Amino acid sequence: MIYETKILKPNEEGINEAAQLLKSGEVVAIPTETVYGLAADALNENAVAKIFKAKGRPQDNPLIVHIANFESIYDYAKEVPEAALKLAEKFWPGPLTMVLPKKDIVPKITSGGLETIGIRLPSNETARKIIRLSGTALAAPSANLSGSPSPTCAGHVFDDMNGRIPAIVDGGSCDVGVESTVISFENDAVRLLRPGFVSFEDLKRVSEKVIADEGIFQKLEDGRKALSPGMKYKHYSPKARVIIVEGNLESFISYVSMHDSEKTYSMIFDSDKNLFPFKNLTYGDTSLRQAHEIFDKLREFDKLGAEIVFVRCPQKEGIGLAVYNRLLRAAGFEVITL
Ligand code: AMP
Ligand code: MG
Repeated sequence: MIYETKILKPNEEGINEAAQLLKSGEVVAIPTETVYGLAADALNENAVAKIFKAKGRPQDNPLIVHIANFESIYDYAKEVPEAALKLAEKFWPGPLTMVLPKKDIVPKITSGGLETIGIRLPSNETARKIIRLSGTALAAPSANLSGSPSPTCAGHVFDDMNGRIPAIVDGGSCDVGVESTVISFENDAVRLLRPGFVSFEDLKRVSEKVIADEGIFQKLEDGRKALSPGMKYKHYSPKARVIIVEGNLESFISYVSMHDSEKTYSMIFDSDKNLFPFKNLTYGDTSLRQAHEIFDKLREFDKLGAEIVFVRCPQKEGIGLAVYNRLLRAAGFEVITL
């Protein structure tokens, strides 16, 4: 179906219209503190099927279920371990998704065929109002076409979803800019499946034992089951070939000088700008800023017609690990160490 995609304001009227569409089984893009989500009633199979269709998302890639208040967790999750309660108390509402055994009420299409769901209570007020008014939980993956960089403003969503969905609620630019942290629970440990704003170090301050899943840093060997299915796909990618280049500015400059061409660009730090003599976009100096900028800049390279993008390697601590993880996937794990 071809839609005329409406842009709704995040006021009472816009939020009401979004909620009505969601109630009637439609898909609406909504702002969250992480990235824009492509939302539908998590309990309605037909509605959820429309999300997969609009994104072109593989059916085995589960959707995160968004709730508007803490107690709703018990409507959808069969068991909530003590460790999850402690983390929710500290980080909810906020960008932390917890993988828990699901109740039967959540259809398999929502969980990508798994017996678990990823569940999250977002802090974005507009998102929470829309969830509340729609009277259900909302399944909402990032509102981009599958494989392309996640959208962090309504314009990004429009670029990917125009004609594919009835409406986008424009809540401005997302605070965090990268998707939520995803964790699961096993015996006495918390496993970090996808890094985000809630960092490995943050989790360690609350839970004694936190394990970083190897899927964060490397491509899974063929045949190994991804604990976080989204992590097995090339992802977050502009059309250009992205290459992460690890090393200091001097060696980065000399590397780029040897590989420069008309359609070669670099993504560098703000503080590199004055010293860097080749075509570039900057993505900040701090990890927080880089998280906010990364997807916007990756999309910008497409508009510039870039064919190769060399990226200055970010810090890997704190939220920097989330930035590095997204870049690794955009680069299809291509890293050059100088
Ligand atoms: P997105 O909403 O596009 O950021 O993608 C959601 C991601 O969360 C998926 O790709 C998975 O990696 C992860 N996820 C969601 N639900 C589950 C689950 N039940 N088990 C493991 N990972 C999950
Ligand atoms: Mg996504």
